[in-house]
Formats: sequence, C-alpha cells, structure tokens
Amino acid sequence: MNDLQTLRIPSTAAANDTDEWVDALADGSMGMHRLPSHLSADEQVTLRRQAMEKRRGVSLDHLGKYSLDAERATKQNCENMIGVAQVPIGVIGPLRLQGEFVEDEELHIPLATTEGALIASANRGCRAITAAGGAVVRAENIGITRAPVFRTSGIVQTRAFVRWIDEHEDEIRTELEKDSRFLRLFDIRPKAIGTTVYLRFRFDTGDAMGMNMATIACDRVIEKLIEPATGVECISLSGNYCCDKKPAAVNFLEGRGKSIHAEVVLDKQVLEKVLKTNARALAEVQYRKNLLGSAAAGSMGFNAHYANILAAMFIAAGQDPAQVVEGSMGITCIEPHGPEGVIASIDMPDCPVAAIGGGTALGTQRQVLDMLGIEVDPNRPGAAAMRLAEIVGGAVLAGELSLLAALTSRDLARAHERLGRSKQR
Ligand code: NAP
Repeated sequence: MNDLQTLRIPSTAAANDTDEWVDALADGSMGMHRLPSHLSADEQVTLRRQAMEKRRGVSLDHLGKYSLDAERATKQNCENMIGVAQVPIGVIGPLRLQGEFVEDEELHIPLATTEGALIASANRGCRAITAAGGAVVRAENIGITRAPVFRTSGIVQTRAFVRWIDEHEDEIRTELEKDSRFLRLFDIRPKAIGTTVYLRFRFDTGDAMGMNMATIACDRVIEKLIEPATGVECISLSGNYCCDKKPAAVNFLEGRGKSIHAEVVLDKQVLEKVLKTNARALAEVQYRKNLLGSAAAGSMGFNAHYANILAAMFIAAGQDPAQVVEGSMGITCIEPHGPEGVIASIDMPDCPVAAIGGGTALGTQRQVLDMLGIEVDPNRPGAAAMRLAEIVGGAVLAGELSLLAALTSRDLARAHERLGRSKQR
C-alpha cells in the first residue's frame, strides 16, 4: 500500500530539487507532464499533488491513498496523475442468471456508487429475480463502430468513392486486420450527405471494447489505401456517425458494442412479497412512465434507470464510463403473464463492454472482474466480454424491477430519505 502523502522527498531526488519542482508545477512555469523521467511514477504523482495542494491551499491527502500500479496507470490510463478517486463499492446478489456465457449461476455483483439507496434497491431486484428462478440473459456481438468523414466534390465523386470502397472491400479488410490478432471487420456502411461521406466501419474486437483498435486500424487504412487510391480527403477520423459516447438513433436502431437482452417471469407471490407491488400497477407505471413519458420527453431511454446500474458497474469494472450514455438507451417491457404475474424484460441495443484493455487491468477493476468470473481465454476470444454483457443485462433488469416497483408503492422518496439524504454538509 502506498501512502505517498507522507513521502515528502522522492528517493531519487535531492530535497531542493523537490521543492523547486513543486514550486514550478504550482506556479505553472513547469508543465505537469514535464517532471524528470528518472522519477518513478509514484514520485511524480506525489509532486504534482503537492503542487496542487500548495497552489490551492487545500489538503489532498485522500487522493494520495492508493494501491494501484502507478507506472501502469500513468502509461496507459491517466496522464498528469495526482492520485485516485475512491468510490465506495457495494455488492448486490445473489442474482441467478441463465445465459449462454453464464451457466445458471448465482452471482454477486459489485457496484461503485455514491448514490445512497441504489444498491439496496438493486439488491431487492436481485432477490425478486432469484426467487423467481432466475433471469434469462443473452447478448449479441454487434461490434464496435468507427465512422471517419470524407469530403468529395459532389454526387459524381461520391458515387465513384462509394463504388471503389465496395469493390475493394477485401483489400481494405486485409489492411485493417493486419496488425491485430483480434480485430475483424464485419462490414463497412457508407452514408452520403451533400459533399460529405461517412464510412461506418463495424468490427469484432474480441474481448476488448475496441475503440483504440478500431481507430488505429481506420487511420492506417485511410492513409495507406483509401486516400491515395481515391483522392478523396478524410476530414476527421471520427465523423460522429460512429456514434461513440453520444445518444444516437443510429446506435439505437442498428446496435453497437453488445446488444443485451434479459427477461424474468414474476408470479403474484414474488411481486407481492419481494417487490411489494402487483402486476397491474407495475405494468401501468411502465406504460405511463417508461413508454409515454419517454415519448413525451423525446427521450431514447424508454426505461427507468439503466444508467444508474451501468455507471456503477462500469466504474467498478474498469469500463469506459462515458459509454454509459450509449447504454442508457433501451426499452423495458412489463407484460401480463399467467394469473396476476408479469414477464419483465430489458433490451439494450448499444452497450460496449470489455474484459481486456482500457481500465480493466488496474488493481481494483481487475479484482471486480475476477469476482464476476470474467477471465479472458485465448482459446475463446470474445467469450469473456459476452459473459460480462450478460451479467450487465441481469443487473440492469434487477435495477429496473426494483425502481418501478418502488414507484408503484410510492416508496421511492421514502427510501431515498432513509438511505440517501445527507445529514451534514
Ligand atoms: P486497447 O487496450 O487499446 O487494445 C486491446 C489490446 O488487447 C490489443 O493490444 C489486443 O491485441 C489485446 N488483446 C489481448 N487479448 C485480447 C482479446 N482476447 N481480445 C481482444 N484484444 C485482446 O483497448 P481498446 O478496447 O481498443 O480501447 C479501449 C480504450 O479506448 C479505452 O481506454 C477507452 O477509453 C479508449 N477510447 C479510445 C477512443 C479512440 O478513439 N481511440 C475512443 C473511445 C475510447 P492486438 O494488439 O493483437 O489487437
């Protein structure tokens, strides 16, 4: 455990050097990334943090308590690192799931959150699902997309450009895939508007979320093949038709990353005993809130709160938190089933997840993935990410059920008052 707040003098630096560096960082005469490279990552983190303390006259001692590998984090995850954000992690479960990559298992799922009541609520959803015999979960590997944008001289060149892409798909595929053991091109879909053409490349990226892999491969194929052969200039490697980290109809309709589905049948007893609700009330809240309310608001999230569960899972498990924006789109259904029961389901068309790459190798995040049984198997590329997608689906369904039920019993405000209100500043 490094508690570097107490490390005043980096071991490899003289005391006066240290003071000078802190002063220079604090007054801005030295850039945060300009510390001498012979200092260790931990030493650099400490000096930057001390500079910030000096500049702002505040204590940052909590930021300095960490156990992660700063060498790795500063090289791969976080420039100008000054410490870590500690977010409490709670656990929900057991949650029984039946998927293709989760084999009828009861799982405990870590959630990182500062929102009181979230974990208690999602945990109640898990109780309902498990009491009902488990949820069926499935994921489809839609693939990650990158859509560079090109400028043509008009319709004639646009047509020729799109035809060239179509006729040279094999060459393009070879160039795209050649530097990665896992990147595979699914397809390229062009879209033209005026003198602008987007090429939406869609890739299988194995167990990785894949944005770096896709972006690097697109950059190379454009520079080496597409631009020289067509004379059409790429204006930006990302043309927002990808559409990464933004809510977008193209992703809702066609999917992106993993498309995730989960469903459970709840009988009258589980509805009443665990969720304190009934089929009619649950279906009415679903209809008037999630469907009509979202339509009235022009929202693409026809659900109660996918984002809550996703954000907590993504932070805990080293996923890219900005992609919660995409995962927040989707439709929850509550339909009558049997005598006074319901079949409840969630559909998430766009949820990028990773079992490798990004933040998944950092200490906390790796341990969270271990807890979920997410382990990359070189003989089954992609299976670990699919397992994670199925678990995400089950957890999101648990979150939906409990919040919708709380709304039917008007329990939401009371739970937040009890569990989430701050009693002090
Ligand atoms: P990455 O860590 O850049 O690449 C994944 C690496 O893992 C590759 O080197 C790959 O090998 C290797 N790998 C080993 N086993 C694998 C397996 N079973 N399946 C897949 N890959 C395996 O991760 P990434 O997913 O491409 O990118 C994620 C990062 O991109 C996140 O940090 C995110 O924040 C960031 N991001 C980037 C952009 C962008 O535009 N560049 C946009 C959004 C997010 P190979 O070398 O053989 O491929």
